Amino acid sequence: MRWIELKATLLAIGSCRLTGVDASGYIESSSAGPGAGGAGSVFFSKGGKRVRLSVSPDSPVLIHHDGDGRVHLRFGTMEATGILEQPALHCPRQAYITVTGQCIFSCKYCPVPLNEGRAKTPEEITGMIESVIDRIDAISITSGVIGSIEDEERRVIEVLKRIGRQDIPIGVSIYPTRNTPDLLYSEGVSEVKFNLEAATPALFGEMCPGLSWDGIIESLDRSVALFGRGNVFSNVILGLGETDEEMEACIRLLTERGVIPVIRPLTPASAVASYGRPSAKRLLGIADLHHDALKKAGLDTTKARTMCTYCTGCDIVPGRDFE
Ligand code: SF4
Repeated sequence: MRWIELKATLLAIGSCRLTGVDASGYIESSSAGPGAGGAGSVFFSKGGKRVRLSVSPDSPVLIHHDGDGRVHLRFGTMEATGILEQPALHCPRQAYITVTGQCIFSCKYCPVPLNEGRAKTPEEITGMIESVIDRIDAISITSGVIGSIEDEERRVIEVLKRIGRQDIPIGVSIYPTRNTPDLLYSEGVSEVKFNLEAATPALFGEMCPGLSWDGIIESLDRSVALFGRGNVFSNVILGLGETDEEMEACIRLLTERGVIPVIRPLTPASAVASYGRPSAKRLLGIADLHHDALKKAGLDTTKARTMCTYCTGCDIVPGRDFE
């Protein structure tokens, strides 16, 4: 089975069960990304490509750990040998840090508002980065929102000032104000990610009450002008009720602007807990459209140096997962 098919099959399930030698050193318990607040995740990797799976005792996917990270994965007749990668902070090779672990907004798919996370101080964050500095290629910063969007932006800028200029790239993904792209650019950030989240404005309005689709598009446009084409990213969730045509239109809306879409399969949670995960077939079909749109726009995911397009754990990334 080709990697892309294996990854689509695993992403459609989203979880794994661990057996064999204790693998707790490979489990990441994160307060951001799919599965936030759950029992943790592992990164299964084969031939330098990876997929993140949440750990669940009920999963039909079995990962047997032989020790030292060497594993066999089994699901029905499907078998694969690979390794578990050791996460640095949140994911392998990055210090991906959530500044504020809670949120005043209530996006319907997001478990973060339910978490009781607080805002980490700039000192804590620099300490966290120091603790993994010898095994990371990038620093990535994200955040929920405590107080207001403006308060959160200030908090993140303080963190960046404290981190200072680094020899490794810094990526930032927060909910933007009109000034966010310029402020992040002045702090020496290399890449930004502002998430459109849903494929259409109507779906966005339903899923993210109180947030602005047009505001995000404006921030993306300003970011491309500052950071350059291919250095700006946007997550769009697949599985919120959009059609394939709507998802394709959204992908092209982003790529034509110079933004690399991150097509994130839905992890049903919170108010959309009853929704299904997108099937492997749908993931592969959308990956083909995504690949074509990136190619037509001359965007190259292999140049991404931070955040999700560099990590690839949760999504199919055309150009990285397949040529
Ligand atoms: S793809 Fe993004 S959300 Fe998923 S583990 Fe990697 S950095 Fe985290």
